[in-house]
Amino acid sequence: MTDIIKKIITEHDINDNELKLLIENADSDSELFSEADRVRRQIYGDKVYLRGLIEFTNYCRNNCFYCGIRRDNKNARRYRLSKDEILNCCKEGYALGYRTFVLQGGEDPYFTDDRLCSIVSEIHNLYPDCAVTLSLGERTKESYQKLFEAGAERYLLRHETADAVHYAKLHPDSMSCENRKRCLYDLKSIGYQVGTGFMTGSPFQTTENLIADIRFMQELSPDMIGIGPYITHKDTPFSSFPSGSLELTLRLIAIIRLLFPYALIPATTALGTISHTGREKGLKAGANVIMPNLSPAAVRKKYELYDDKICTGEESAQCRACLERRVSSAGYRIVTDRGDRAGI
Ligand code: SAH
Repeated sequence: MTDIIKKIITEHDINDNELKLLIENADSDSELFSEADRVRRQIYGDKVYLRGLIEFTNYCRNNCFYCGIRRDNKNARRYRLSKDEILNCCKEGYALGYRTFVLQGGEDPYFTDDRLCSIVSEIHNLYPDCAVTLSLGERTKESYQKLFEAGAERYLLRHETADAVHYAKLHPDSMSCENRKRCLYDLKSIGYQVGTGFMTGSPFQTTENLIADIRFMQELSPDMIGIGPYITHKDTPFSSFPSGSLELTLRLIAIIRLLFPYALIPATTALGTISHTGREKGLKAGANVIMPNLSPAAVRKKYELYDDKICTGEESAQCRACLERRVSSAGYRIVTDRGDRAGI
């Protein structure tokens, strides 16, 4: 085993120079992936947890330069689901074995605290054995608190990049790295299980940025870490930047598994989009979660964060059956479980 990998395993940390070597070199990949898989199996066995993703609105007040549902994309066909439509997704998902529902959307002012709390508490009451996860972007601490009291237990908010200068290259002036981090600490202090993360290969990203991402997460200590490749969307200011790579994403999944052994790490839809077997490879590199789409088939294509997103032409039941095959072909097993982080 190379010395650096040995050091992460025994000391659970490595210095910046060692991280840089690991991030920039493909030589130790196979060893890195097999060690990450070993650590993942020690803690989570061969279990893969599912999160049913309900993309309930693609209206967004923000203008992130990389995102297909940014406010200024006039080609995006906007939609929002009604409370009944959201509850129908949960009903269908529950029957398919989902025990976590993730409500994700753009930052849509229509969804006030009152409207959201009524949806969250209804899901919570109808499915007390399920976890409700929110992924609604930046809100006030008071708003996060109300949603928590309504029954949301988890919140996903990728920090996107921990470096303020890089952050400013990906976002308009109205947004800041500082506020993003403030939100994450607020969520933690309220008692949410928190997920954060970033895109690999986003425009202007350097190895130093990736190291800063890891250091920030070591400070935050999130329960979940979502990383996927940046993928170009044709109707954004970044339309001429290339997408991130499968290789770098897998390498970071493996490094993150070794540095955060207990983390819940999804093999993301973006990973499955840049490579036909990307999610299977993600699982083999240390990921242990998959987030299939539970949105109604009629709106799936409209929640297009990036070009050519997979699974937009399918029904939820088809996705579920397809994943069963994919996960078992990779040597793992989907379980019907809330899938809380181990060790809490
Ligand atoms: N409005 C919510 C949800 C955003 S969408 C929020 O702000 O958290 C969820 C994630 O998709 C984002 O955090 C971002 O990391 C990712 N994403 C957006 N555009 C993308 C792109 N072009 N390629 C890959 N991932 C993208």
